Amino acid sequence: MGGPNQANSAEEKLSKSIRFRTVSFEDPSREDIPEFKAFCAFLESNYPLVHKHLKKEVVGDVSLLYEWRGSSENAGPLLLVAHMDVVPVEPQTLTDWTHPPFDGVISRGYVWGRGTMDCKGLLISILEAVEALLREGFNPERSVFLAFGQDEEVGGLRGAKKIAELLESRGIRPELVLDEGGALVDFGIPGFRKLIAGVGVAEKGYLTIDLVARAKGGHSSMPPRHTAIGVLARAITRLEKRLFPSTMGAIQAAAFEKIKPETPLYLRAALFSPRLTSFFLRIASRWVPPLGAMLRTTTAVTMVSGGTKDNVLPQEARATVNLRLLPGETCQSAIERVRRVIKDRRVSVEISGMAENPSKTSSTDTTGFMVLERTIRECFPEAIVVPYLVIGMTDARHYSRISDSVFRFSPIRGSIKDMELAHGTNERLSIDNFKELIAFFIRLIKNFCASPAPHQKNHYPY
Ligand SMILES: [Zn+2]
Repeated sequence: MGGPNQANSAEEKLSKSIRFRTVSFEDPSREDIPEFKAFCAFLESNYPLVHKHLKKEVVGDVSLLYEWRGSSENAGPLLLVAHMDVVPVEPQTLTDWTHPPFDGVISRGYVWGRGTMDCKGLLISILEAVEALLREGFNPERSVFLAFGQDEEVGGLRGAKKIAELLESRGIRPELVLDEGGALVDFGIPGFRKLIAGVGVAEKGYLTIDLVARAKGGHSSMPPRHTAIGVLARAITRLEKRLFPSTMGAIQAAAFEKIKPETPLYLRAALFSPRLTSFFLRIASRWVPPLGAMLRTTTAVTMVSGGTKDNVLPQEARATVNLRLLPGETCQSAIERVRRVIKDRRVSVEISGMAENPSKTSSTDTTGFMVLERTIRECFPEAIVVPYLVIGMTDARHYSRISDSVFRFSPIRGSIKDMELAHGTNERLSIDNFKELIAFFIRLIKNFCASPAPHQKNHYPY
């Protein structure tokens, strides 16, 4: 094989893909677009069949949309989503990495580096799967689209959003959209040997507001009872004391129903008597942040400023609050509640950053979900497929304008703690797990897109 860009094995391709520093930033001028372009060229030289048989379009600056035309005009397509950008590595954490984050070192059964889990492992395994299917002469009945955005980590407005708009303008309505978001998680609960395959059916909304207290200035030698900073402090205290209510929504209830029969007896009694459950959740959701994040709209005061000099009364004090909204909430209803809780006319509430309502919730009563669930069970018989609420944001939400069947899952394995590696230090993906990802996508495409013609049925008896 020729060229320094060429890799042989799948894991070698993943390793090389990590070396492209495709870091996205809120400020697009900081992005290294030539690096993204080099990454796209790398894909082109390593997936020759994909680039021969699929139609490729560049959307935005460097986002990619591929179309593998199916034999049937009527069958709703499959859309597989991943992203090529990664989050930066904090310079002060560099020395904590076992292997440098952008070297893509293969060692001890893992590929190491930024993007292995989020999201190049996924992107490369999708391309591996399609390349393998093309090699064996597979012809899909449904069209398969691949969408690789350039800026998922900063909102997806230049990548996924544009791709979704383009597909919409062409009247394309996928019957299944699959993006990252859920994983194969081992919760390590004694007596509970199953893996949870969390399939994200919705994602929380995102809202950033400023609380602004304004006051007359003046000399600090004759202060009023409260300065602007004091007023602001009281507002923050109220907000942190009176949390948004925790609610067991439809998604959480469906998840509990799925887990119930598999739960060891000692937990079942405590978790699934309705009174005990609501008591348990009320207490736990206040003290266990990950649980609270699943059950309520959260508020986090993240920045604060005010005052200019030690002996001058501040005219303004400002606190930034980031909220994540539960389905059912809207930016408007959340702001109204914040105002009610603060109950102070001297403090105004202003939108100061991104304001996005929660995504639509996809129904699990669709062909898309049923085939996805079956595929997960076939590949991972020890897993329970559980619908869940994604608490972060993914590109998936942009695609809800073109499909009612948008899900967030990839079979990356690990404990809850392992999942934190994704944006953290020593991000890595085991080669065994990477191969499971490839096998999963091959199976999913066959299960969802194989032609039902009799001669094909013999080839793909699923
Ligand atoms: Zn991601």
